[in-house]
This record gives sequence, C-alpha cells and structure tokens, in this order.
Amino acid sequence: MLLQAGVIFFTAVVPLAAQGIPPNPTPAHANPSPLADTEALSREALVWLAQLIQINTTNPPGNEQAAAKYIAGILEKEGITPEILEVAPGRSAVVARLRSSAISNPSRALLLVAHLDVVGVERARWTVDPFGALMKDGYIYGRGALDDKSMLAANLAAIIALKRSSARLNRDVIFLATDDEEAGGDASIRPLIAKNWDKFAAGYALNEGGEVISKGGKVQYVAVQASEKVSVNVAVIAKGPSGHAAIPTKDNAVVHLAAAVAKIGAYSAPVHFNTVVRRYFEGLAAVSDDEIAKWMHSLETTDRGEHAQRVISDANPQWASMMRDSIAPTLLSAGVRANVIPGEARAMLNIRLLPGDTIDVLLGALSKLVNDPQVRFEVQPNAGLAAPTSSLESDFYAVITKVVSQEFGGAPVLPYQSPWATDSSQLRLHNVQAYGLWPFPVTDEDLARMHGDDERLSVASFNKGVETLLNIVSDFAVTK
Ligand SMILES: [Zn+2]
Repeated sequence: MLLQAGVIFFTAVVPLAAQGIPPNPTPAHANPSPLADTEALSREALVWLAQLIQINTTNPPGNEQAAAKYIAGILEKEGITPEILEVAPGRSAVVARLRSSAISNPSRALLLVAHLDVVGVERARWTVDPFGALMKDGYIYGRGALDDKSMLAANLAAIIALKRSSARLNRDVIFLATDDEEAGGDASIRPLIAKNWDKFAAGYALNEGGEVISKGGKVQYVAVQASEKVSVNVAVIAKGPSGHAAIPTKDNAVVHLAAAVAKIGAYSAPVHFNTVVRRYFEGLAAVSDDEIAKWMHSLETTDRGEHAQRVISDANPQWASMMRDSIAPTLLSAGVRANVIPGEARAMLNIRLLPGDTIDVLLGALSKLVNDPQVRFEVQPNAGLAAPTSSLESDFYAVITKVVSQEFGGAPVLPYQSPWATDSSQLRLHNVQAYGLWPFPVTDEDLARMHGDDERLSVASFNKGVETLLNIVSDFAVTK
C-alpha cells in the first residue's frame, strides 16, 4: 500500500516569498495523488522552475552544466544519487534512478526526459526580463517557462515524490535532463546515448512533444506524440556564367535559383496517412465544429478526399504539414558585389519528411518540377533518421490515455505525429516506447509564445501538469 496523503512535509529550497511567488491560486485538486500532497509539491516545483529559468541556458552556447549542477543538488538533498554526464565542455546532462530491485531490467524501466537548454531571445521584444522568472497575474514568465523547464521541474517533482513516499516500484524510474536539444548538435542526445546508454536504457519514456489544448477555460483535447517527422536540409544550387552586370544574360544563376524556389514554394507534396494521423483526425473531428469535422471525416474518401485534404490543409498549416512531406526555403545566398553577376546562387530547404518517406523520392519530384539543367539539389549531412512509431497498444500508452482523460474531464486523447523533432526519435531508434506529453493545459495563444516573446505559463496550469505527470508515473510504476 502507498503512504497516505499528508504524511510528507516539504521545505522549499528558497522561501516562496523571497521568490515573489504567491500562494497556489488553484482550488482543491480533482485528482489528488495517493503519493503526495500535489499542491504543496507543485509549490516547491514552481520554485525549481523559477530558479531553472534564472539559469541562462540559451543554446548556443547552452552552458547547461550550471543547470545540471542545480538539479543534482536538489536530488542529492532528497537522498537520490545524481550523476552529471559531461557531453562536451560546459555541457552536461544529469541522470538519476530509483530502483525497483537490486538488478535492473532496462526493458521495463520508465525514463522521464526533459531538456535543460532553451532557444535564444530577442530581448527588445520582451516586456519582462526573459531570465527573471517574474510572477505576474498568475503567470510565471521567462524563456523555458513552456519549453522545457516546466517539464524538467515536473519530472523532478515526480521522482522526488516517489522517493519521499518510499513507494514500492514495479519498474525502475529514471530521471534524465538532456542538453543541446534545441540545436541537436555535438552535445545532443545522439552522443549522449552513444557514450552513456547503459545509464538510462529504458523500455518506456515520457518526453515533451504532445500537448493539452485548452479553450475557453476547458481542455479541448490532449495530443500524445507517438511519432515525428524527419528533418532533412537540402541545398538548391543554381550555376551560370559569371560576368559584368551591365550585360545581363538569360542564364543568370540568381534568376534560375529564384524561379526554382518559386516553383518549390508553390508545390504541395502528395498526402499520405498512417495510423497515428488517421486516428488524430478522427478524434479531433469529435471536438471540431460541424463544417471542419465533415471534411476531417472525408479525408480518405475516394470522391471527396482530394477536396477535403485541400480544405483541411488551408484551415491549419500544421494539419497541412502532418499529412505530407513539407518544404520550407530558409536561407538564400548569392553574389559578392552589386555589379557582378555571380556564377552560383544557393538556397536552403528545410524539409520535414513523413516517417515512411525518403528524400530521394521527393527530390525526384522536385527535379521534375524545377526542370532546369542549371539547378541541382544537394542533401546536407546530419539529416534526421526516421524512427519507428511508438505503439498505440502499449501498457504505457493505455495508462497515459486513462490518467489524462481522468485529469482533464474526459477530454479526448489523440495520438499525434509532430511536425517537429524531439529527442524521442533517438529513443525510439533504441527500442524505447517513447511518448510526448507536455502535461500543462495551455491555450493556442500561450502556446504561440513557445520560442517566441514573453513566454509564460500560468501557475494553475503548471500545478495541473505536475499533478498529471505524477499520476501517470505512479499509475505505471508503483505497485498497487
Ligand atoms: Zn523543447
């Protein structure tokens, strides 16, 4: 049996008043955890979130080591032994484990993942200090409040609650804070796995990547990421004779590149559905207005499918990207002087492939479309790798679905294929059933601040996310 609620006492790392954090504005929780007083735990976790925001881990350069040390200090105080894994100079991950038995069984273990680094800020566009962790109107502001320090603090709260309650675990629970997620460079999860896989090998993982979407004060649906698209950069290179700009010719490389980019920009790759995307639209139709729902139901019909795909793609650019390989031109370069026609002009395409698609097939279609012997494509190194989709039939997916539905008033839970990449693809390539669920209910408006200006998370939402995450972990990993 678990310990009863209320037997655990918490002391915050730093007094709440000193942090400018008001008392928890959320009324009694609907689904209290048998493991912990989640309100008190959330208040502590909010302090961790604030202090993590104050440690600037903007990537580049990242400097995640300071945040890793901060987390290690909290874990140590709780009697959990952390290990700091240096991935590159000044760049570290931190890992800690609660054991279920003397001998670990990695295939059963549950890994809680979040990343330490954040993207940069355009300081002039912020109305508050991006690294101040200011509390205002029930929100905590700062870079990382959404992505991903809130999840880091919630994961920390979950493993600490398990430890404090001396819960009997039926599988190991591993906490992992990664570095260099945003740039995916030389200090990312790829080298981390290559050097240290035995330290956090697991059969299941919970990571960012899925969302709890709230509208009008009510959770509309929950998207659990089970799959993700694959990022590939492709250079488009146009060549032509260089020469004096006073005597233009038709084979100017800049003109040929511009024409190619214009054609590519107007191109829409063919639509392919897989189980995750199919079930996503089926579930979303149930909470969409009648007109959109009608077209969602028609996506794969023979008579109206093509029209439905166009309507749905036009209605939401994210839906358009979920159904097909997407192409976004992102960089342009040509020329050295205003009066010299350059011999070469280049553009970069950031392509996001559906997991089953290959770049060669898409480039075949683009070559035909551009149809210009002066233009060629060059696939860039370090392309993402297609990972298998996490199972929608696993025990863990069933637990996530059940708990989330209880937490959010029966809101539909949809499997989700994210257009963006997360660390989960690397885990899936190592046979981990990894799911993305960032458990804090947010509106589309607040979600748009992710990687944007005045990033913020409401304290009520944070508390709900801490409770949800703890309930998922305890349902899956604690012996009942
Ligand atoms: Zn993130």
